[in-house]
Amino acid sequence: MNKPDHDHHHHGSATHSLLPSDPALRVKAIETILLEKGLVDPDALDALIDTFQNKVGPRNGAQAVAKAWTDPEFKAWLLDDASAALSSLGFTGMQGEHMVAVENTEAVHNMVVCTLCSCYPWPVLGLPPQWYKSEAYRSRVVIEPRAVLEEFGVSLPEGTEIRVWDSTAEIRYLVIPMQLEGTEGLNEAELAERVSRDSMVGAAL
Ligand code: FE
Repeated sequence: MNKPDHDHHHHGSATHSLLPSDPALRVKAIETILLEKGLVDPDALDALIDTFQNKVGPRNGAQAVAKAWTDPEFKAWLLDDASAALSSLGFTGMQGEHMVAVENTEAVHNMVVCTLCSCYPWPVLGLPPQWYKSEAYRSRVVIEPRAVLEEFGVSLPEGTEIRVWDSTAEIRYLVIPMQLEGTEGLNEAELAERVSRDSMVGAAL
């Protein structure tokens, strides 16, 4: 368990307990008020949502992973200074200022969590999935990562070490999954399509 200093600027202890029971409903209510008062432009809202779902979303990370698979120099750079390597692709911004990339091998499988809340590398993976934010994942992956992986349908050989990285407000992690067998002949764009979001959090292969 690699647990750097977990210095979260953004949550006091009450942050999560105060979340509304139905956040989507609350967001919709706020959106309606803003639209009715003419405070936001619906097209601007759509553009923002599109940005987070598609442009900021996990396809950025997939592109970086595919590049790492096909370009050894880029992979070395990514492992050495992920923030700089990802910035060179234009993947930078909020919640992604201090990135660390960790590489899966036959010997080591990496998983990412935020044990305190849901710190996540937005510029490369978009918004975190529900399971990443769940109490169950956050508490269990640290204690029994192998069992959690099994529930994601991933069975690793006994000998594979599982490292769990605890994200913080300061450091966000990107897992470089192992390239899947049978994809050697594919180009970078084709490879990027094979990289799933979950694999870059270490919850899939
Ligand atoms: Fe967090």
